Amino acid sequence: MRLKTQNTFFLAAFFTVVIQLAGCNTKPVNLSVARESVKEYYESGKYDEELDAVINEAKEKFSKIEFTENSVVIFDVDETVLNNYDLAKQLGFGYVYKMNKKWNQEMKAPAIPQVKELYEYLLTRGAKIIFLTGRNIPEFEVTYKNLKLTGYTTFDTLITQREHEYNLTPTEFKSSKRVELTEMGYEIFGTVGDQWSDLNGAYHGIQVKIPNYLYQNAF
Ligand SMILES: [Mg+2]
Repeated sequence: MRLKTQNTFFLAAFFTVVIQLAGCNTKPVNLSVARESVKEYYESGKYDEELDAVINEAKEKFSKIEFTENSVVIFDVDETVLNNYDLAKQLGFGYVYKMNKKWNQEMKAPAIPQVKELYEYLLTRGAKIIFLTGRNIPEFEVTYKNLKLTGYTTFDTLITQREHEYNLTPTEFKSSKRVELTEMGYEIFGTVGDQWSDLNGAYHGIQVKIPNYLYQNAF
């Protein structure tokens, strides 16, 4: 019995080393190939298929919740309810700060239909909605208008980042806001976002991870 356990241990260790060595030899994907593959994923319908599955699973989970008058679901904004794919594509899937700010000012981002469907479903179920974004306070107004223009017309509030919060990591910022909302009396039943930093931390409830192959943040 002991020998069997030892053998299992050595076998596991061996495969771990093999996997690690294989990892060391992995070469990166050529950037132009990676760009094409991202473009193909978004434009061939595969992104929509993945989104459909995520939203159906989320609706199934939320269908088991009894919402009360203080129940809220928190939605992130960029790449969650609003789609900046066209800007990313224009920039060769890179990021240019000035172009991003200009795009936001122009309120060009369309809604992501599947996420909007989840938003509407939650409203009909009696949940309140709050938008919580890492966009900064000077962008509050255009963000608010962009949400309204794209049909996100019913929500309790939109929270953007204030100056003294700029040095927080995304997880710290979003988590601290959820603590504040909970202390105000809201009961958070879910978080919807394209980054794990939208979903991790305090009071997250049901976590709905929206696919994003354009960028990711580590914290
Ligand atoms: Mg986002």
